[in-house]
Amino acid sequence: MSQLSSKLDFFQESVIREMTRKAIHHDAINLSQGMPDYSPPEELITGLLKAMKEEIHQYSITYGRYDLRKKIADKFRNYNKIKLDPEHEITVTCGASEALSSSILAVTDPKDEILILEPWYENYVPLTHLAEGKPIFVPLSSDDFSLDQEKMLEKTTEKTKAIIINSPHNPTGKVFTKDELKFISDLCVDNDLIAITDEIYEYILFDGKKHVSLASISDMFDRTITVSGFSKTYSITGWRVGYVGADIDIMTGIRKVHDYLTVCAPSFLQYAVLKAFDLQKEYFAELIKRYQENRDFLVSELEKLGFNVIIPAGAYYLFADISDFKMSDKTFVNFLVEEKGVATVPGSSFYQKDSRTSKEGERFVRFTFSHKIETLEKAITRIKRKIEKM
Ligand code: GLN
Repeated sequence: MSQLSSKLDFFQESVIREMTRKAIHHDAINLSQGMPDYSPPEELITGLLKAMKEEIHQYSITYGRYDLRKKIADKFRNYNKIKLDPEHEITVTCGASEALSSSILAVTDPKDEILILEPWYENYVPLTHLAEGKPIFVPLSSDDFSLDQEKMLEKTTEKTKAIIINSPHNPTGKVFTKDELKFISDLCVDNDLIAITDEIYEYILFDGKKHVSLASISDMFDRTITVSGFSKTYSITGWRVGYVGADIDIMTGIRKVHDYLTVCAPSFLQYAVLKAFDLQKEYFAELIKRYQENRDFLVSELEKLGFNVIIPAGAYYLFADISDFKMSDKTFVNFLVEEKGVATVPGSSFYQKDSRTSKEGERFVRFTFSHKIETLEKAITRIKRKIEKM
């Protein structure tokens, strides 16, 4: 008999992170896990060195340094149009991942149904199982990943507790429109649902798109948990500093979980990220320019190679349709990493298994373009060599 919890039977270890291990093993260019090969801005390195000098080695208070929460509150107000009290309504976490864990655990009772849009970012489903909730999958439309409103209504029942939204969306790069967000907010209000919104890619938006936070839509403030962090915007995915904002009632619950899960995010890194707030508008414009160029390069190169790419509107991933190669996603991904040294993620890892829609994911492979153009060029050269031989 297994000594492990039966909760673990519902999920496996992350395929994204497994692909990073495979990338290391095969000495491959890692276009799987979304981690930039850019250096963080100088300001953050200065902050880091300063943190060492100041000898910040002990715990911060559980919710995060107050000066950092205050800066995050200003950012929430100015960028997201959400008014949150730094004293009671913001918590600094170990990455957006922990913000999501604490949030899902805080709101879920056993058997509560949690709506998850398919395809989804891997963590949402295991976290729902760990909270003993029941993930209810709502497929996005298969051509452009827009919201299927009929299906959303169909899947919402009296057992539905919450919905998880992610915009800009990982793995597809879809950015939900204002109308789609309005539909979600109506659904939440009509059915008394909580929205957990993962906005970690909020600054990476292409073609002039603007970020809209669900909590800024009327009637959503006191039922929305907004998750974000510093990892993607400042190329510091390994620092693990994220945050969560929610109204005081919900935040009191999230803080209880956070307290026992991690105690606090690393203190010296909380101090270092204070410097992120010295960066001006130009930094964000440059970030968009960088990733838009990377996107355009990768899209055009992959299209030349016969991939059918869904053009991402935000985040730094693209979902490429590999149907023309007549291989399943897993075979294709293994082939790329083992034979040619480029790691990607099989599309099926963003879809449920053994269901009507499970086959859907097998026609996709996810590439990240969080890497310098030189790195992307090298990856394309490697892929080209292989495909010509096939
Ligand atoms: N969001 C990243 C990805 O999808 C992974 C983040 C993580 O591994 N914590 O690749």
